[in-house]
Amino acid sequence: MPELKKVDPEIAAIIAEEEKRQAQNIELIASENFVSSAVMEAAGSVLTNKYAEGYPHKRYYGGCEVIDQAEELAIARAKKLFKAEHANVQPHSGSQANQAVYFSQVEKGDTILAMDLTHGGHLTHGSPVNMSGSYYNFVHYGVTKEKEIIDYDQVQALADEYQPELIVAGASAYPRVINFKRFKQIADSVGAKLMVDMAHIAGLVAAGLHPNPVEVADFVTTTTHKTLRGTRGGMILCKQEYAKAIDKAIFPGLQGGPLMHIIAAKAVAFKEALTPEFNNYQQQIIDNARALAQALKNYGLRLVSGGTDNHLMLVDLNNLELTGKEAETVLDKIGITVNKNTIPFETKSPFVTSGIRIGTPAITTQGMKEKDMEKIAKFIFDALKNIEQEEKLKSLKKEVYAFSAKFKN
Ligand code: PLP
Repeated sequence: MPELKKVDPEIAAIIAEEEKRQAQNIELIASENFVSSAVMEAAGSVLTNKYAEGYPHKRYYGGCEVIDQAEELAIARAKKLFKAEHANVQPHSGSQANQAVYFSQVEKGDTILAMDLTHGGHLTHGSPVNMSGSYYNFVHYGVTKEKEIIDYDQVQALADEYQPELIVAGASAYPRVINFKRFKQIADSVGAKLMVDMAHIAGLVAAGLHPNPVEVADFVTTTTHKTLRGTRGGMILCKQEYAKAIDKAIFPGLQGGPLMHIIAAKAVAFKEALTPEFNNYQQQIIDNARALAQALKNYGLRLVSGGTDNHLMLVDLNNLELTGKEAETVLDKIGITVNKNTIPFETKSPFVTSGIRIGTPAITTQGMKEKDMEKIAKFIFDALKNIEQEEKLKSLKKEVYAFSAKFKN
């Protein structure tokens, strides 16, 4: 980045430092990934210069004939990838995709049934500190106490009792397969519409390794940067009958000019996701998650629901008498990046938590396989067992860096 170095050496240095951190550390944040160079090039292209309010061939600006093709390609590829009738690729983020569905489908004060945040739901699923929670009347379902899987009977009972206009399925921290058909039956039984937020599992869905919510849901929202391995952004898929309302909710409802460089980068990521190599990659994410879950269990760690079917797992730290915050901090010290996370029936605050969330998309992109998961589990266990042994942590950090140097972003 010679020009950036010249113009803004401070930012150039920060980027270089972050590049080094990403290369050195073991990246286990379940919602992160490393994009391909092709995605990065599109995201850093001259398309950032173009204003294009509106949609292809219906813009409020001249000079859109070239970038229209990029958005059309992104839409066509998204529809093919997920077998969707309509795709809106303009949401700047997953949060805005969710907001757009709410804005277009429910009135202020209406009831929406969604997953509780501490059981795995997202902030935009009705947290009181989020716009969703202050504009709409959210009611929340959770997981069962025994098996820690979604309590579908509770979803039905709450739907019967509260008669929601919309039911939201999907989560940020749920390690099991979600039964979208069951959600659809419940929604139909009370005349509610169904929205699925597949942000976390979109890559698995694209590869046919998780049931496709597009087949049953009225609306499917997603981010494009998690398992899907595209640029940071959002997307909405829906049935044709809702296409106009969804497009209107994004623009002019919530956003102004679309980020055309990001839309082009989404198109590139969708092209990559349509290849057989991508399916193999998604299978490896799952295989790695299973191997890592098993290795952590072998060290005596308790996993919420006993394991994982997808790309992530939740470790309950209560039996180690550690908090999520302490675990996140000690793992940071040895170069392993995770996030503290609430667990079902949480007793601690979201700033402290009883758990950590661990995911395998990023390390799988770097080429790690099942055998490497045993090594990572050992690093994690050793750090959690030695949280006050600074010398031990220093030597673990050296080992982590030596290990991760064998893999490339
Ligand atoms: N939905 C779910 C299930 C998520 O996990 C996330 C992000 O973590 C979002 C929505 C929001 O995405 P963004 O951070 O792009 O707004």
